[in-house]
Amino acid sequence: MKIVSIQVSVEAYPLVKPFKTALRTATEIEHILVSVVLEDGTEGLGGAAPTVAITGDSTGGIVTIVEEVIVIAPNLIGRDIENINALSRLIQQTCVGNTSAKAAVEIALYDAVSKRWQLPLFQYLGGESNILKNDMTISLDEPEAMAKAALPLIQNGFSTLKIKLGKDWRSDVDRVSLIRDAVGEHVSIRIDANQGWTPKQAISIIHEFEDRELNVELVEQPVQAHDIEGLKEIKRSVNVPIMADESLFSPRDALRLLNEQAVDLLNIKLMKTGGIRRALQIADLAEAAGVECMIGSMMEASVSVAAAAHLAIAHPNITKIDLDAPLWIKNEPFEGIQFINDQIIIADRPGLGIKRNPSFIQ
Ligand code: MG
Repeated sequence: MKIVSIQVSVEAYPLVKPFKTALRTATEIEHILVSVVLEDGTEGLGGAAPTVAITGDSTGGIVTIVEEVIVIAPNLIGRDIENINALSRLIQQTCVGNTSAKAAVEIALYDAVSKRWQLPLFQYLGGESNILKNDMTISLDEPEAMAKAALPLIQNGFSTLKIKLGKDWRSDVDRVSLIRDAVGEHVSIRIDANQGWTPKQAISIIHEFEDRELNVELVEQPVQAHDIEGLKEIKRSVNVPIMADESLFSPRDALRLLNEQAVDLLNIKLMKTGGIRRALQIADLAEAAGVECMIGSMMEASVSVAAAAHLAIAHPNITKIDLDAPLWIKNEPFEGIQFINDQIIIADRPGLGIKRNPSFIQ
């Protein structure tokens, strides 16, 4: 079944409240939507989010790369969708970087090919259940405000929280301590420092988590993305598992992190890998090395988050789910993935299961 057209468009959706990390503050998200149409009229959807601070990809950059490079250079129009692995590799080879643009197009191709075979994407990829257990992020704020934000989340059924730290290291232990006091001992607490600490700060902060018995499940990206030596030093010095996020984009990055035993866990995001196939490759490499993976997302809308959910269902080495971004969006024009408290439920229909909501009013 041949590809007959690929279109790209941009929409913006407001957030419920501003989302703050050590790197940025966002009040709305921009969503780049890619639509691939096959000769029988089947439409595949893909999406991307711009995150210049992490991937370097802006909205204009993603649109331009999709329209002027990815679609044109390998001439995707007229190719057979069944050749998805070869098409995915062609997309990766079009240019250096630009992983968000590559992901948007490749997700749309996966949506189209699994619709072509009349299977939900998770089944096409070899998975079974359509339900995942999610965590919820507490964005960076004053310690008291973060503790106050935590309690209603637990009352709404979340048992795993992800705490954003890293902008003001002197009060980061207080943040976690107040949150632990507020939520009690049975809630899992994940920490994401978003590159905000030096290796020495990270070691001292994590030792304090340990001394105060704050029971932290993992610490994500404590230091700068390029600082692999820093990650290794931290991993050697503390007991809490260390996870790579911004240090991991490609399967090649994964090979290095795994070979050097630099971290205990990997965080895979489609906007960093450039799509599903490379994410599968990373999860496979990590499995061979005995390292489990988390699936995460940027501040993305539900099209690409659904793709990440399908992938997580299908790969047994993806054991931790951090896909709460759509819960931050006030209103978006898609249906097919439900977020009910800590559960993610994917529609049991072919492809991503994502459709435009006809009654959408922004
Ligand atoms: Mg992270």
